[in-house]
Amino acid sequence: MSTSVCVVGSIHMDLVVRAERFPRPGETLLGSAFDTFPGGKGANQAVAASRMGAQVSLIGCLGDDDWGSELRGVLAADGIDISRVRAVEKAPTGVGVVTVLPDGENSIIVASGASAQLSPDDVDAASGSIADADVLLLQAEIPAETNARAIEIAKNANTAVLLNAAPAAGLSHQLLRDVDVVVVNRGEGCALIGDDEREVQPKGLARRLASYGPERVVLTLGSEGALHFNGQEIRLFEAFQVDCVDATAAGDAFVGALATLRAEGERLKDAVRYACAAGALATTLPGAIASLPTREAVDTLLKRDISAAG
Ligand code: ADP
Repeated sequence: MSTSVCVVGSIHMDLVVRAERFPRPGETLLGSAFDTFPGGKGANQAVAASRMGAQVSLIGCLGDDDWGSELRGVLAADGIDISRVRAVEKAPTGVGVVTVLPDGENSIIVASGASAQLSPDDVDAASGSIADADVLLLQAEIPAETNARAIEIAKNANTAVLLNAAPAAGLSHQLLRDVDVVVVNRGEGCALIGDDEREVQPKGLARRLASYGPERVVLTLGSEGALHFNGQEIRLFEAFQVDCVDATAAGDAFVGALATLRAEGERLKDAVRYACAAGALATTLPGAIASLPTREAVDTLLKRDISAAG
């Protein structure tokens, strides 16, 4: 039987400007280059899961515009079922406006456009896709009530729910109550518990997040790897050593891989190691979707690591 992941989430176009520094308030700065890249956490994670070998269906909204058509083409090319992606009239496709500095640091403003129209009704209309999936995968770039409805449908159908609570600003921890696995990076986790990042240790953070109700918490820690807490035991996973050129979408590669391995029935702590390998590989290439690794690439990195250790 094939493994299936249903993603309910955002599909955006990233508008990326390269600049020497961020502009000051009121200042106009000349950038050095401009590019558009397919993105949105929902789309990125759907592609990440598909490249890991899952059958992926994506529920989302696009504008009835050129970017909408382009994004459909990109998703279909990766084998994703987009029959539940709705074209919204009179709303633009959502965008991420990204400024990237020479050292790779970035700042992003998301204007959700059509993604803000993804409604509980859309999710109801696609409830069969959620019920049939092994894992429902969610992020926080769509309305909270839409995520809440998707979680309800999944619970009734015994579909496991993995929530990547990102971005976390303004997100209520109520959403975490009924999920099986919550994945966040350190900054997002601190935003959820309302504490200063400098004062919170990862282990304490994982315990605090678990107190909101999810069965398991996974913290991603960038070049320091990841942490898994199952309610009793905390386990740390070291990052894989790679030549990092651009960390964009490392988190999306991690989450897509985790969802796929979980859908395959892998124990979560084994799936976290796999996800760390996928996240590491995504940092070795520039871009978002373009940098998401295949299953073969992850398997090769894991084998290299085992032979290096042995
Ligand atoms: P996000 O992109 O959401 O902030 P992280 O930066 O924590 O997420 O990255 C997700 C995962 O990708 C990490 O848990 C880690 O396993 C892997 N990763 C990220 N950056 C690196 C790096 N420089 N070297 C190796 N692995 C990395």
